[in-house]
Amino acid sequence: MGPTERYFDHAATTPVDPRVREAMLPYLGEAFGNAHSIHSLGSQAAAAIESATEQLATLLEVAPEQIYYTSGATEANNWAVNGGQSIAISPFEHSAMREPALRKNAKLLENEGPTLQDPEQVFDLVSVMSVNNETGIRWDVRDFAANGERLHSDITQSVGKLPLALDQIDYASLSAHKFYGPKGVGALYVEDHPPEPLILGGEQQHGQRGGTLNVPAIVGMGQAAVIAKDERERDYNRTSELRQILRQELTKTNDLIWNEAADQSPFIASLSLLGLEGETLVIELDRAGFAVSSGAACSSGSTEPSHVLTALGIAPEWLRGTIRVSFGRANTSESTHLLAQQISRIAEKLRTI
Ligand code: PMP
Repeated sequence: MGPTERYFDHAATTPVDPRVREAMLPYLGEAFGNAHSIHSLGSQAAAAIESATEQLATLLEVAPEQIYYTSGATEANNWAVNGGQSIAISPFEHSAMREPALRKNAKLLENEGPTLQDPEQVFDLVSVMSVNNETGIRWDVRDFAANGERLHSDITQSVGKLPLALDQIDYASLSAHKFYGPKGVGALYVEDHPPEPLILGGEQQHGQRGGTLNVPAIVGMGQAAVIAKDERERDYNRTSELRQILRQELTKTNDLIWNEAADQSPFIASLSLLGLEGETLVIELDRAGFAVSSGAACSSGSTEPSHVLTALGIAPEWLRGTIRVSFGRANTSESTHLLAQQISRIAEKLRTI
């Protein structure tokens, strides 16, 4: 069994699909043109961008003109924050949304467990992610459209995994490396009016986001979108089975809870083991050859407890012992059985120390 079968950290990043790498290679070689140059090399690059944009638009079921390229979901979220003066966000947002929004004095929507309450106040912009990166819990930002607010959704953990419905949504953020594309490229979907530009510069992207387009990365994201469209349903069904295997195998493990909700992405499982440390579990699992994460990869290393699990109401003695298992294409039922066995073995060992 290879290391990719034992890699259960796909919410942090996915490997670049070999078909994506193949599609990118010419643009890292002889087809190196700037998509804004008017000579043939430039036109070749522009044509590649146009075709990649159509590929991504097809996956998202939107028009190509509604896609603006960014360096990833972090930039797209930072940009979307410019879409309103008074902002409300869910308490579960990734720090890439939470931090820029809080800088602009955003309010957190109230919640009871995973259930978000309707705000009493009216806001210009409401942002609710479609799938939480730590737990896989799902929401629909369209539920918050009561008073004509602009709506933003961070769809980073849904693209290529779950069906998307971007109708009625004004802005949506995504990153290619979460669906087998390259790192450092993503997009902001804009229904009609882009937010005030975040990055000023050249006239690229209708003057709304300056900077020379990253042709190979955008081509890679387009190819990843084509593959995701073809394989999404199969991936979803297989992943649901793997998550069920993990659940069944862990039923006998003591003092273990699943941090989840009725509306749940199967691609992510958040497990808390009472009295243990998530990071110790991650290190022990790594020794056994399995890659998982403790809460969100981006905040691991920080000593602050996860704001997501805290907002869900997970008690500190459980919260500390949380690991995130996130599934992807190379995982198998065999590797999932083995992962579950290792989690049980390591928990038992650590608890006897
Ligand atoms: N939003 C969510 C929900 C994410 O999971 C991530 C990646 N962890 C991001 C935003 C940021 O993506 P990137 O680092 O590619 O900009």
